[in-house]
Amino acid sequence: MGVEEKLPSGIILASVEGLVNWTRKASLWPATFGLACCAIEMMATGAARYDTGRFGMEVFRASPRQADLMIVAGRVSQKMAPVVRQIYDQMAEPKWVLSMGVCASSGGMFNNYAIVQGVDHVVPVDMYLPGCPPRPEMLLDAILKLHDKIQHEPLGEERRLELKEKERTGPEP
Ligand code: SF4
Repeated sequence: MGVEEKLPSGIILASVEGLVNWTRKASLWPATFGLACCAIEMMATGAARYDTGRFGMEVFRASPRQADLMIVAGRVSQKMAPVVRQIYDQMAEPKWVLSMGVCASSGGMFNNYAIVQGVDHVVPVDMYLPGCPPRPEMLLDAILKLHDKIQHEPLGEERRLELKEKERTGPEP
């Protein structure tokens, strides 16, 4: 009996998938930008006390082309929305979005015409983080939960984008 007959079906693919996802989650590089007060907590999370470098996030990249994580830290104004979308579009796939704080996730206390009522109207969001502002420990927790999500994602862009779109639009009625 050959080795392949002894292995459960799909084991090779599962191993490759696991390895690729492990490398992806262990080297997430965020794009450098912050929108409001939540960004102060994000900066603190990247500094020495909390040290996101421990999780492979050594640097916040100045170029979106070198980043694969967008942390939307703060309220998104209507004027800023096209800029956020442009940065997202300039990031290469695969990429992930973390919505940090209630303002980014739902508009928060700014229920008015000037603020986008949730950044998921602009870009697909992979992880929502509540709080005003979320503390660095909460951001780290959200990043680790995102790691877990990435670890179990299927490979293949179409499939991933399809899943993302589904999440963004919610369950079918
Ligand atoms: Fe500022 Fe709170 Fe809104 Fe964050 S959630 S941008 S801390 S008002």
